[in-house]
Amino acid sequence: MISISDPLIGEQEEKLVLEVLRSGRLVKGPMNEQFEEAVGRVADTRHALAVSNGTSALMAAVTSHGLGPGDEVITSPFTFVATLNAVLHAGASVRFVDVGDDFNIDPALLEAALGPRTRAVLPVHLYGCPAAMEQVEAAVAGRDIVVIEDAAQALGARVGQRPAGSFGTGCFSFYATKNVTTGEGGAVTTDDDEIAETVRLLRDQGQRAWYGYGRPGFNLRMTELQAALGVAQLARLADIVEARRRNAGLLNEGLRGIEGLLLPVEPPDRWHVYHQYTVRVTPDARLTRDELRSLLEANEIGCGLYYPRPVFDYDCFRHDPRVIAGAAPIATRLASEVLSLPVHPKLSGSDLDRVIDTVRLALA
Ligand SMILES: *Cc1c(COP(=O)(O)O)cnc(C)c1O
Repeated sequence: MISISDPLIGEQEEKLVLEVLRSGRLVKGPMNEQFEEAVGRVADTRHALAVSNGTSALMAAVTSHGLGPGDEVITSPFTFVATLNAVLHAGASVRFVDVGDDFNIDPALLEAALGPRTRAVLPVHLYGCPAAMEQVEAAVAGRDIVVIEDAAQALGARVGQRPAGSFGTGCFSFYATKNVTTGEGGAVTTDDDEIAETVRLLRDQGQRAWYGYGRPGFNLRMTELQAALGVAQLARLADIVEARRRNAGLLNEGLRGIEGLLLPVEPPDRWHVYHQYTVRVTPDARLTRDELRSLLEANEIGCGLYYPRPVFDYDCFRHDPRVIAGAAPIATRLASEVLSLPVHPKLSGSDLDRVIDTVRLALA
């Protein structure tokens, strides 16, 4: 079986986790500090705050900017539900702007969606491809609108020289399937001292000093065990990204020129970290997307479907007045066409050949 994801856990991970276990210091310790320093280096931000998961990172980011009832956050409809949940739990509303061919929010549509209640734009760097952040920045320039990035899938991605997570308040996930993992884990990155301080309070019950509470908070802390895993993982980030990019290149070569199969593109000046290698199976293909998916699975090739519907298209959101859906024809089409193929660093050359040959045989 070729799996869709498989974490690279080696001796350094074992060593650091064991060190924490033997030290007896399981929370609020030096591993969290080292982990935060390493994340801050990757995102090139003054602050990086470790939190319990990517959803916590989004919740802390949204809350730290004071977003709440009556405020509108603009995001992509083609995302994981956590993006939407984080905003709704803060009490704010979500307005969706459709995506473009890069699977990310289309900045050309953004300006028309901005209104008097718009307080934040929350682009998602889907599959590890950073959104067109410079055009997003241009669209909100001169307005009182903050940028929050859902960079859960995009650690190490860049637009030009600027890393994902450095355009505003960055939210990362270190979930088991992400490019770098701590099992469950997250981080918030920012250059803003006040936002950093607020996230620090929010993640620890609002506690400023010993039993001195500055605001109502949560418990969003990361354990030392998770941070130790993260420190070891972050030391491999360059290798992980290189392997994913190499695998994506081999898949691109092997899958070129098949009728009805569109391959992922890396837009100019954007550094894609290939959290997912996602193809589109269009109506011109010999099989439907779902038929190809079943065929791959029958051949013991894992594949992923991210995401089967625009995120607003569920009963629990359909009647929620805070979920402002609008038209999203591109996201709706993509939801029926996308399929993610294995691209992780543990794939061998023969694994990749098997993926390529199986898809070719099925569609060509
Ligand atoms: C993984 C992910 C999240 C949530 O992260 P968790 O660590 O699972 O809470 C949010 N947004 C996107 C786009 C993700 O892929």
